[in-house]
Amino acid sequence: MKIYNPKIDKLEEVEKINKTNSEWQKILTPDQYKITRLHGTESAFSSICPVPPKEKGIYGCVCCGTALFNFGTKFESGTGWPSFFEPISPLNVIKKEDSSFGIIRTEVSCARCNAHLGHVFNDGPPPTHKRYCINAIALKLL
Ligand SMILES: [Zn+2]
Repeated sequence: MKIYNPKIDKLEEVEKINKTNSEWQKILTPDQYKITRLHGTESAFSSICPVPPKEKGIYGCVCCGTALFNFGTKFESGTGWPSFFEPISPLNVIKKEDSSFGIIRTEVSCARCNAHLGHVFNDGPPPTHKRYCINAIALKLL
């Protein structure tokens, strides 16, 4: 599969990461495991999304380190979850319809390891008007 690697500013061919739940459980904290592997949602305002030094940086998948969002696309949505108006590349995330809880939403996952990240909504700011509402626990600064 191809993903965008911002370190070399190029598309890169990488292997998909397929681990079993018990393998993930060994390398993730219980909270990281619950959110990313069991499709959990952290409570609003419950975790702090780290601010990169000099306000320039990239958030990656906590499971596999794939680059997901640029700090420059983060905005304050007031929801209590880190919010971004676009992913670093459409190749690096997977979007799919999620109808759990009887509501149709679009789930966002890591394209390389399938980690559940959050959901995307259509009420974001310009230029995209999208709001990627992401669990801070699913992200790490690269
Ligand atoms: Zn990942």
